[in-house]
Amino acid sequence: MEKKDLHDEVKKMEPLLKSSCRTIWENPEAGGNEKESAEYFRRILKDEGFKIVNEEHLEHAFCAEYGSGKPVIAILGEYDALPGLSQKAADRKEPVTKGAPGHGCGHNLLGSAAAVGAIAVKRYLETEKISGTVRFYGCPEEELLSGKVKMVYYHMFDGCDFAISWHPMSANMVYDSGYLASASVHFEFRGRSSHAAFAPELGRSALDAVELMNVGVNYLREHVTSKARIHYTTDSGGFAPNIVPPFAGSWYYVRAPYISDVKEILERIRKVAEGAALMTETEMEMKIDYGCCEMLENHAYGDLAYQNMKEAELPVFDEEEEAFAQRLVDTVTKADAQKAQNLYGTEGRPMTWKLNDRNLYRVNPLSASSDSGDVSHVMPMCVLSTSCWPAGVAPHTWQATAAAGCSLGEKGALSAAQVIAGIAYDLYHKPEAREAILKEFNEKKDDYTPMYEV
Ligand SMILES: [Zn+2]
Repeated sequence: MEKKDLHDEVKKMEPLLKSSCRTIWENPEAGGNEKESAEYFRRILKDEGFKIVNEEHLEHAFCAEYGSGKPVIAILGEYDALPGLSQKAADRKEPVTKGAPGHGCGHNLLGSAAAVGAIAVKRYLETEKISGTVRFYGCPEEELLSGKVKMVYYHMFDGCDFAISWHPMSANMVYDSGYLASASVHFEFRGRSSHAAFAPELGRSALDAVELMNVGVNYLREHVTSKARIHYTTDSGGFAPNIVPPFAGSWYYVRAPYISDVKEILERIRKVAEGAALMTETEMEMKIDYGCCEMLENHAYGDLAYQNMKEAELPVFDEEEEAFAQRLVDTVTKADAQKAQNLYGTEGRPMTWKLNDRNLYRVNPLSASSDSGDVSHVMPMCVLSTSCWPAGVAPHTWQATAAAGCSLGEKGALSAAQVIAGIAYDLYHKPEAREAILKEFNEKKDDYTPMYEV
């Protein structure tokens, strides 16, 4: 079987891919609740002859495995939706169910292309009878930035050699590096309740502590790396003004280019929180939920992924699809659309239709965070994207949900499945590619431990 045959195998699975994309899109489940979505993927992979393992650690996470021996290739699939982004596959904002979740990040496409890619690779291993294992990883809670961190913590990726990941986007490109490291932290202050007018001197306000802490952190901003992002909410701050709040809490996200920066900033925020507690005579408790890492860069792997994007068939959109994409573009500002079209070189068309430059990730980095970053610290990982929604449309919007629910996204997913299968093909066949990727990985890897405590 040549790589071209493997691409054809993927193409033959277009009906399965489409029905998978639609099924998950029509039943959106937000992070932590992906029961039916995980079950759907488990079932199609089981029907294909995969063995389902590693289900006991984390709800809605699993591994579907086929083959034996090395190399062991992990294909990462996600399927969580976003709260409140329910949307029809229409060109105006129109939820299917108001307030319900929706696939505004296209994880219906993400999981489906990963599963179809894994099935194609399985069929290839079966036909050729070569040494090698393919694993599809069902990864929940990506939008919470926690799923894969927990999966690493529970050693679910043990025994894997290479990871392949992709994400729907507005461009056909490869990311050698990216993702901001991030941590989610809760601060809880406990004071003493009292009548705020009758006996204020007996009260110690936990809400005062939260406010003073936020003021302190806002001064701290000036003195951390300029690429850091610190954002917070407060979810509790007392009951009524005449009761001194005995309890108040805040929830912080801290992001920076490297997890080491995040940890350093967290230590300084801890001091600010301690200072606030000291000033208000309250007790402070800091609870780190989890943190996720930046992606460990691997140019050799990026080269292999890019080569495979050249060899696969990129999505080609017909007139009707382009017209629909244009109507979505018309809902964003002209300036935003133009900026994106220039960046991706669409020559005025709404969808990116060509292969983007090898180094575009340098000017257009993945500046959000993803729990996939952690996977890249336990084995080499590549990330690619295909054109699934119009240039100028951002993920986590109703427009992206709409595109992910129609043939725009499905075409991008089909192309991604071909690239995924092609990369796996090369990893099985080209020892020199494996060695180059592993050499770079071993040179760059650090003493990583997942930032998650049960
Ligand atoms: Zn996403």
